Amino acid sequence: MNNSTRPKFSYTPYSLELKNPFGTAHGTRTTTEGMIVAISENEITGYGGAFMPPYYDENQASMTAFFERFDVEKCLSFKSLEESFSYINNIAVGNTAAKAAIDIALHDLVATKLEKPVREMFGDAEAKPIETSFTIGIDSVEKMVAKAIEAKEFKTLKIKLSGKNDVEVISAIADVTDQKLFVDANQAWTDAEEAIEISSRLIEFGVQLIEQPFAKGEYEKAKILKESLNVPVVADEDVQGFSDIKKLAEFYDGINIKLMKCGGLHEAFKMIKEARKYDLKILLGCMTESSIGISAASQLANFVDWCDLDGNLLIKNDTCEGIKCIDGYLIPEEINGVGITNDQNLRELLNL
Ligand code: MG
Repeated sequence: MNNSTRPKFSYTPYSLELKNPFGTAHGTRTTTEGMIVAISENEITGYGGAFMPPYYDENQASMTAFFERFDVEKCLSFKSLEESFSYINNIAVGNTAAKAAIDIALHDLVATKLEKPVREMFGDAEAKPIETSFTIGIDSVEKMVAKAIEAKEFKTLKIKLSGKNDVEVISAIADVTDQKLFVDANQAWTDAEEAIEISSRLIEFGVQLIEQPFAKGEYEKAKILKESLNVPVVADEDVQGFSDIKKLAEFYDGINIKLMKCGGLHEAFKMIKEARKYDLKILLGCMTESSIGISAASQLANFVDWCDLDGNLLIKNDTCEGIKCIDGYLIPEEINGVGITNDQNLRELLNL
């Protein structure tokens, strides 16, 4: 065997710096730690990234430990991609962001070899502009209003709520914009009756979707809220993977699927199909992540109801150039792989 054709797996830590401190009900942070990865074979390279907020249990050390167990030659030796993804999934329990990084890199590599965009691997040949919402983190009311005004090109704003002054925040934002408003409580609400009361006020101000109102596992409260409101109540922290979907259908109207949470594109696509069996709406979301993950997720956009793919817009040191966001729409280009349009910086970071 010629050594030059042996596949190579590369990874390096990377810290995303946020343009503004990002506040959610979990706390405020200024960086997201993660890793970038590459799988190279026969002069073709596929890229991936793993970025998780600190309230999930992955970090650069656990990602490194996972990557050390990954055997790229074995992964690429299987006859079917299904077997490769099953191999990645079985390396260890959890580690979904690390798995997602490899999954994204593998899709990027395979689609590039096939000379097609990744979306075509899922049977979607249509490249059309993708409307994405833009997230406003928790801050003072004045700053949240200012950020809403700044984000006027987006058709939808997703406002993070703290559970403390939610009506005040939304009423102030609704005063300055006619944009569609989604809210994400990130588990901050505690009482179902109070949540109905607050939600009803928020809906009067134009809120059209409520995400993860209560603590993870408080399904009955979510169900009460869902049955009381005429806007969708969507699970985020409550849905980590495929196996959660069936049980959640009773309690929620929809689910938020993120590549970092579920382990990548392969798993996300399976989840989309499963969610549809139970008539669940789908929000395709993201973490604060680089253009690798956002470009990758955008490949599934035509299969979902709403996209919230703005994580790369919140950072000031992106890893590469990928799908562009223009006037609130992600614009897919006819390029092969996950959609990275300039990998120069990635090559340097990964010593390729
Ligand atoms: Mg959320």
